[in-house]
Amino acid sequence: MTHTLFVSDLHLSHERPHTTRLFLAFLQQQAQHAQALYILGDLFEYWAGDDDLDDAHHRPVIEAMRKLTRSGCKLYFMHGNRDFLIGGDFAHATGAELLADPWRIELCGQTAVLTHGDLLCTDDTDYQNFRVQVRDPLWQQKFLSLPLAERKAQITQLRARSEQEKSYKTAAIMDVAPQAVVELLRQYDYPALLIHGHTHRPAHHRIVLDGRICERIVLPEWGLRGGYLRCAADGWEMREVVS
Ligand code: MN
Repeated sequence: MTHTLFVSDLHLSHERPHTTRLFLAFLQQQAQHAQALYILGDLFEYWAGDDDLDDAHHRPVIEAMRKLTRSGCKLYFMHGNRDFLIGGDFAHATGAELLADPWRIELCGQTAVLTHGDLLCTDDTDYQNFRVQVRDPLWQQKFLSLPLAERKAQITQLRARSEQEKSYKTAAIMDVAPQAVVELLRQYDYPALLIHGHTHRPAHHRIVLDGRICERIVLPEWGLRGGYLRCAADGWEMREVVS
C-alpha cells in the first residue's frame, strides 16, 4: 500500500552522532518503501549556507537523501527555524523539493496543511520579530556573503543566546497559540489534518472548529529515539524509530 511519511526536528549535528545514524537507517529502511517523505524543518541543528554541503557530518546525510530520491521516493523539505538557510544547492544535491511554509497537500483524499510550527507560536513576539528579520531575502543575502567561518561563529553566539532566553520564557509562550491555529485552519478552509513539529510536544489534538473537525498532529523531536507519522489510505499513525 502506498504511504507517505512525515518527520521534523531531527536537529542533526556532529555533536549527536547517534541521531544521525538513526536517521540514516530510517532513510534506508522505512523511507525506502514510502511514496514520499516530508521533512518539516529543523533537519539540522543549524545550517550556515549551502557552501557547507561538503562538511564531514553533512556529506553522508546528503548522500543518503540522494540515494532515496534516486530510488523513487519523493522528498520534500520545509525550512525550520534552524535550517532556514537551506537553498537551491541543497535541493539539487539531495533531489528534494523545497516547500513554502505553510503548504497544502492532498493526502489520501483529504486535505492536509503542513507547517514547521514556529509561525503558530505568536505569543513569542521576540522570536516572531527575529523570524521576520532572518527570513528577509536581503538579510539572508548579506549574511550569506560573509565567509563561512564567520557565519558559523555568529550562529554559535545566536544559539547560546537563544538557549539563555528559553530558560526564562514560559512553556506556554513557546507553544503554539490556539488563536493562531484557529486562524490557519480557517484560512485553509478547515483541512482534515494539520501537521507540524517545532514545539517538541508530540501529540494528537482533535479540534472542533465552526462545526468542522481537524486533527492537529505534532511530530516528535529526535534524540536517542526518533519518530515519524505514517499516512496511508487506511489511516495514519505515529511510529517510533529505535536503533
Ligand atoms: Mn523548530
